[in-house]
Amino acid sequence: MQMHRFALLLVALAAFAADTLPPDAEQRLAREIYKEMIEVKSGFTTGATTPIAESVAARFKAAGFPASDIYLGGAIPRKANVVVRYHGAGARKPILLLAHIDVVEAKREDWTTDPFVFLEKDGYFYGRGTADDKAQAAVWVDNLLRYKREGFRPDRDLILALTADEEGGGPYNGVDWLLKNHRGLIESEYALNEGARGESIDGKRVSNDIGLSEKQYADFRLEVRNKGGHSARPVPDNAIYHLAGALYRLSTFTFPFQLNEVTRAYFEQMAKIEKGPMAADLAKVAAGDQDAMRRVAAASPPMNAMMRTTCVATQLEGGHATNALPQLAAANVNCRILQEDSVENVLQALKKVAADGQVAITVKTNEGPSPASPMRPDVMKAFARVTDTMWPGVITLPTMAVGGSDGRYLRSAGIPTYGVEGFFQDRDDVRAHGRDERMMVQSFYEGQKFLYELVKVLASPQ
Ligand SMILES: [Zn+2]
Repeated sequence: MQMHRFALLLVALAAFAADTLPPDAEQRLAREIYKEMIEVKSGFTTGATTPIAESVAARFKAAGFPASDIYLGGAIPRKANVVVRYHGAGARKPILLLAHIDVVEAKREDWTTDPFVFLEKDGYFYGRGTADDKAQAAVWVDNLLRYKREGFRPDRDLILALTADEEGGGPYNGVDWLLKNHRGLIESEYALNEGARGESIDGKRVSNDIGLSEKQYADFRLEVRNKGGHSARPVPDNAIYHLAGALYRLSTFTFPFQLNEVTRAYFEQMAKIEKGPMAADLAKVAAGDQDAMRRVAAASPPMNAMMRTTCVATQLEGGHATNALPQLAAANVNCRILQEDSVENVLQALKKVAADGQVAITVKTNEGPSPASPMRPDVMKAFARVTDTMWPGVITLPTMAVGGSDGRYLRSAGIPTYGVEGFFQDRDDVRAHGRDERMMVQSFYEGQKFLYELVKVLASPQ
């Protein structure tokens, strides 16, 4: 009897495990596409995305997609984007499935293994781009091919766009270029993109994140010019001292706390994940308690960044000789601005904080505002439903990215964009852009299944 129950339990567990994974043949194909993408050196300064775009285009052609539904092109010949349209019934506006196929550069000598050789080892896939963002690119490709093979007829078009230069590179970013030159190709009701994955703590899945907004990026230059002179005859009026004073005052300054719909929802959900006094404080943060915000901000730099605009000194220059009074001292201050705030407000705040008329402050780069995407009930519900089905007990966590993605171009062009991946990783082991980037093998296949089901729900007749 005992044995019998045990056997039943095993069968149930196996059935459940199978439920979070795609069929074997789909896993094999997704892995093959993924491997091929990882092994193309598509670093945004030295590499090329065109071989990936061409190979993807060929796969769709071979699968019977008409040439008129496959677009290959871009601002620079070696940096092609590929856009593929999967036709639906046209009852609603299309959904855009976005991923970038360029990567941050990776040097062989910095890595334990060759970053451009796809390696499966100890339950992980290793290689540059395994997490950011070729897993999602490969999965989108395989899932579309699978829908086609299975005869899935969505009620709306699905548009796949795999793009160049998300990580930098330019001067024309892939998504921005497509918006400006071929908007019709990617015109859609909303986009699904990278930017929020599943989070595990000590191997236990806790939240599946959905990215709804991101902060605005801006750089400011603080500059002091001075007539200088001989350093043997110093005077109090010194460019470096003026700048240092302003930067010191900046180091002790903080912008006010400000929550919005997305970050409030984030803290409400985080209160359910965290344990102990932190959990109580997070609930208070969601309710707007300033004292709790101060405690949480002091304990967690990422949460601090979720609650306020931040500015920090990142580069310095100044002086022209060891034996001369400086004629120039300058600093770059990088700011990440909440959607409710503005570059102009931040500029005024920086001038006030510097409190020194000799410190000239100018805007150096401003990537422009990117409105938060609304918490659409259809998207939020589908996301939570698929999450609950695949991983019961795992919370759907709305997030605001404190860094940036190509979502900002789409959001500011009026296409709401949702960061959805379903790839789980350890919250404290994020290696994107760093050395030995990796993806858990199981997370890759589960993400494949998650995105397959999610898009299917979103594109099925209501
Ligand atoms: Zn990325």
